[in-house]
Amino acid sequence: MIPTSFNYSAPATLAEALGLLADGSAKVLAGGMSLVPMMKLRLATPEHLVDLGRIADLAYIREDGDVIRIGGMTTHYAIESSALLASQCPLLTKAAGQIGDVQVRNRGTLGGSIAHNDPAADWPASLLALGATVKLQSSTGTRELSIEDFLVDTFTTALEPGELVTEITVPKDQDVSSSTYLKYYQPASGFAIVGVAAHVVSAGGQVVRARVGVTGLGNKAYRARAVETAIEAGQSAGEAAALVTDGIDANSDIHASAEYRKHLAVVYTRRALASVLP
Ligand SMILES: Cc1cc2nc3c(=O)[nH]c(=O)nc-3n(C[C@H](O)[C@H](O)[C@H](O)COP(=O)(O)OP(=O)(O)OC[C@H]3O[C@@H](n4cnc5c(N)ncnc54)[C@H](O)[C@@H]3O)c2cc1C
Repeated sequence: MIPTSFNYSAPATLAEALGLLADGSAKVLAGGMSLVPMMKLRLATPEHLVDLGRIADLAYIREDGDVIRIGGMTTHYAIESSALLASQCPLLTKAAGQIGDVQVRNRGTLGGSIAHNDPAADWPASLLALGATVKLQSSTGTRELSIEDFLVDTFTTALEPGELVTEITVPKDQDVSSSTYLKYYQPASGFAIVGVAAHVVSAGGQVVRARVGVTGLGNKAYRARAVETAIEAGQSAGEAAALVTDGIDANSDIHASAEYRKHLAVVYTRRALASVLP
């Protein structure tokens, strides 16, 4: 339970951090909630850690026209307790409050969670339902990806060596939006066995746009497009929820069989939809 030796840098600015990461050999440390346990188990043995914790400029939640910009180092707790997000994008505050425990929410970061891309993590489902954008920066430039393109596979993202997740952008809710995040969690860690984020926009009592993100079931979080289409076509929550596992190869592990996960996904999708439909 003791990591191998490593060099440690704690830059004070983003430019300094990007310089230290430029040759692709150093590993980023954010909240350390996933990386430090992996180092202690020697599943990760970085030779050089670049700690982002002193870069104050990377932790923020800002309104910018129709969107909200969230810095990569913003903690789960900062999101959970944000009055701006509670009023303009409440799906994120609802999801944040369900992550792990108080210590994990105080240390863990939004950027660290999506960079890690645990298939049972909570953020990916909500960010998929919101249509979030991820900003990546390196010493040579900046690019933006949709969250769907960013999340590649289990513990794998579109991050290139030397790149950092510096910002996540989500649209502000409209007056007629409604959203929720529901999960059935593993009691020891809080990680999702299945988590479902639903976001709908209505007009005149009719759904005009439905987005559903699901985590915990497959090798990565996904958008349940068949469910979205069914809801937009006026089908009931129950009819639409039955489609949530279409085309999905569900995981089996010590916590739940694939069959049980699929059953939970239908139940939690139905409940989530029932609570957001007009
Ligand atoms: C007991 C426990 C319970 C938990 N329960 C839950 C839960 O219920 N739901 C849930 O979703 N998560 C849960 N987690 C995980 C937690 O949310 C972590 O905070 C998160 O997965 C990683 O974020 P971090 O900031 O700690 O990143 P770190 O652990 O510091 O880093 C994780 C990985 O991301 C990379 N990285 C970090 N930041 C960046 C960045 N800005 N740009 C590029 N790469 C970066 C690191 O190099 C590393 O590979 C739990 C963790 C613990 C220990």
